[in-house]
Order: sequence, then C-alpha cells, then structure tokens
Amino acid sequence: MADTNGTAFDIVVLGGGSGGYAAALRAAQLGKSVALVEADKVGGTCLHVGCIPTKALLHAAELADHAREGAHYGVHTTLEKIDMAGVNEYKATVIGRLYKGLQGLIKSRNITVFEGYGKLVAKDTVEVDGQRITGQNIILGTGSYARTLPGLEIGGRVITSDQALQLDWVPKSVIVLGGGVIGSEFASVWKSFGADVTIIEALPHLVANEDEALSKAFERQFRKRGITFNLGVRFAGVTQDDNGVHVSLEDGKTFDAELLLVAVGRGPRTSGLGYEDQGITLDRGFVITNDRLHTGVGNIYAVGDIVPGLQLAHRGFAQGIFVAEEIAGLNPATIVESGIPRVTYSDPEVASVGLTEARAKEVHGADNVEILEYNLGGNGKSQILGTQGFVKLVRQKDGPVIGVHMIGARVGELIGEGQLIVNWEAYPEDVASLVHAHPTQNEALGEAHLALAGKPLHAHN
Ligand SMILES: Cc1cc2nc3c(=O)[nH]c(=O)nc-3n(C[C@H](O)[C@H](O)[C@H](O)COP(=O)(O)OP(=O)(O)OC[C@H]3O[C@@H](n4cnc5c(N)ncnc54)[C@H](O)[C@@H]3O)c2cc1C
Repeated sequence: MADTNGTAFDIVVLGGGSGGYAAALRAAQLGKSVALVEADKVGGTCLHVGCIPTKALLHAAELADHAREGAHYGVHTTLEKIDMAGVNEYKATVIGRLYKGLQGLIKSRNITVFEGYGKLVAKDTVEVDGQRITGQNIILGTGSYARTLPGLEIGGRVITSDQALQLDWVPKSVIVLGGGVIGSEFASVWKSFGADVTIIEALPHLVANEDEALSKAFERQFRKRGITFNLGVRFAGVTQDDNGVHVSLEDGKTFDAELLLVAVGRGPRTSGLGYEDQGITLDRGFVITNDRLHTGVGNIYAVGDIVPGLQLAHRGFAQGIFVAEEIAGLNPATIVESGIPRVTYSDPEVASVGLTEARAKEVHGADNVEILEYNLGGNGKSQILGTQGFVKLVRQKDGPVIGVHMIGARVGELIGEGQLIVNWEAYPEDVASLVHAHPTQNEALGEAHLALAGKPLHAHN
C-alpha cells in the first residue's frame, strides 16, 4: 500500500499508453496500489496519434467514397468538398470523449497519476521531476515513436504519421514511403480525399507481413483505385523546396509530390530512460523479456511496443492485463503472439490471425497443410456492399484451423470470430455446424468452413 507521503506503491507503471494503462487498471482492480507516470496524455499513441484518429480519418474517407459512388446504387450524391477543419473536429471529438472516459476510469480505480517525464533510477524507483516514486514492482510501457531512415530528416514537407494527423489541408499529391499498415492506411485516406498517391516500398509487396495471397489481392485493389506503388526498390534520397518533395530511388527513378509521408516502422522509446543502467537487456532498443514479460531484473516487467513483436494496441492491453495478474499471483496463461488478430483498416480492409500459408508450411511441412479460399463473390452481403475479396483458411491436415486471412470491405469486423476459431483450435466441422446469420459477411466464414469440411453450400467448386 502507499506510504504516508504517497510515493511508495505496490506497482509503478512508467508510460500511460495501451500497455501501461491496461496494466494499471487491472492491477487496481486486483487491489494493488498503483502509480501511473505519464509525460503527455494517458491513452498514449493509440488514442491520441494512432489507432483512433486514423480510423476516424478512414471513416471520413469511406463517406467520401460513398458520396462519389451513390449513383451506382441509384442514390444520386456528389462529393462537394473535403473540409479538413470539419474532419479534424470530428476526429478530435471522438478522441476527446474517449480520453475523458479513460481519465474517469483511472480516477475511479484510485490510480495515482504522476504527470511528468519519468526515469528508472533504481530497480524499484522511478524519478519524475526530482520526485522519487518507489514500487515493489515496476512496469515499463514507454511505447514507440515514428522511425525514419538514416539521412532522412523529418521536417517541412517530409512528415510522419504524427504530422499527417494534424494536416488541415488535403494534399494534391503524396508519396508514402512504406507500404505496411500505417502507410497503406494513410494512402487509402488520401486517395479517397482526392490526392494522387504513390507508395514506395522496399519489400516485394504491400502489407508484406500478411499472407502473400492477401498482399497480392490488396495490390490489385489499390491499383484499381488508382493508387500507384513501386515495390522492391529502396529509397535513395529526398529534397524539398517551395513546390514540393523530390524523391529518388536506388534504381534511378524519381517522383515528385507535395508531401512525403515516412511510414517505415516504429522504434521503441527506451533511450535515456535508465533501463540499461539498471541491467535491463536491450536489443536495438527493444526491451528483452521472458515469455512472462519479466525483464530478468528485480521485479521489473515490460509491456507494449517496447517489447519485440507485433506493435498493436490490443497486444499492449493483453500484456498489461497479463503482467498485473502475474504480479497478483494469478499465474495467467502466456500470450500466444500468432493468436493476436491483425487488421489494416484501409479500403479494402485486410484482417488475419494465426499462421500464413507460408509459415504454416514451414512449421508443419508442406504436405501437412490444407488451404481453402472462399470468394466473397458468393456472399450476399458482400455483393450488396459492392465489395470484392475472399476468406482464406489455413488448416493443419486433419487438424484444426491455424490461420484465417480475409480481404474486403469491413472484414476487420469478422476477425473476432476468426480469432476464436484459431485460438480455440477449432476444426472445420466445429465451425461448419454453427449457424451464421444470412445475409451477413460473417457468413463467408461459415461458408468457408462448410467448404473445408467437405460440404460447400454457395461455392462453385
Ligand atoms: C498512425 C498509427 C496508427 C495505429 N493504428 C493502430 C490500430 O488501428 N490498431 C492497433 O492495434 N494499433 C495501432 N497502432 C499501434 C498502437 O498505437 C500501439 O501499438 C500502442 O499505442 C502501443 O501502446 P504502448 O502502451 O506500448 O505505447 P504508447 O501508446 O506509445 O504509450 C506510451 C506512453 O508512454 C509515455 N511515455 C514515454 N516515455 C515516458 C517517460 N519517460 N515518462 C513518462 N511517460 C512516458 C508516452 O507519452 C505515451 O503516452 C497505430 C499506431 C500508429 C502510429
């Protein structure tokens, strides 16, 4: 419990983002006294400059596309203009409501918030503006920052997602460096808002971490939308002037645009925070932990983007809850990284959980993996929405489904069932016997499992 001057706690959490605040909330629920140290705003990257604002932009982008396409459905609409002030106000309102809710939650659980920049100064102590806060346990959750490439300076017309989210105008043209999740989401927004968009990606595919079938389908749909991309060639340099940015690639190609968005990944925010001084092992800045998220030093744990692996908010939440329960002695089950769902919220959406076909073949052997693709062409609701795509299932031969991969409008909302299937190690027959409502996109998952169980209904094979 807290001592009389209120600076000794059961748990001190450094960083109030998805990982840190989830740990704090769960620990408080379990009766622990908790200090939460936050330099900026609780909610962190996800709430203020990540998940939530980007998804608000993507929703506005979807409305813009619907306005353009209304006539196709017999509803004659035109897109008058994108008013970025209005879009930003809507985005800020969403963030504001959630921020207020989170602050209320933290207060209601009696968590003591220290506003300021914290540093680990001993194995059980975080110092904030000269004040020492001690904890029987420390949880590090200092998150990540937008990385750049050597020699590529952020400034002016060269921006990261942080500045992109503050833009109060729609660029006529943008170059997006990096075709991963964040780059693809911004490319999708700007295209819908009317910009010419070019993506530059050094890897051979867009959303390259996904199953190759999804990446290829994604590229086809982006191409159809008029988003251009250049794959497999590395960025060489950029200059900027009053007119725009001038980007060159290692193969000599050049591109001009008003802005360059650098979306080449996120680095761990761990430098200068005293972690190494206390004996914590860092690898390229990431905090190395065991599978119970313990750093191997004192009672210090780490959660979220500073721990190598998927940099996703819901992974941070899960890790935060895990560590709080671990400290409380509840012996929680370890988190299986491949069981964490992944979504790219662009148009089209991409959603997956479990192993890709390639990875499954590496793990189980090529002969022990079965694949099934169910085209959304056979799904009534997808036809109504006018979307294309498919569900791809990866199954261990005669065994459970070990991968669910989907592309198409709104498939992010289907991944909830996908993750239950994979994480509960369901067999195709188990899912096939469950009734899916008609007409829903969810039904595509049911149909895919019917087909994999050998009794396809709406499938032409
Ligand atoms: C543009 C963008 C879009 C994204 N979209 C999604 C999405 O749709 N879905 C998804 O799951 N994930 C998404 N992410 C990723 C998600 O935001 C992160 O995975 C998540 O925020 C990580 O949580 P965290 O707690 O590790 O760190 P953060 O959220 O980065 O929080 C760390 C906190 O620690 C504070 N801090 C750091 N150092 C100190 C210090 N020394 N003292 C005090 N406080 C400190 C920071 O101010 C910050 O509030 C997105 C990220 C970006 C950038």
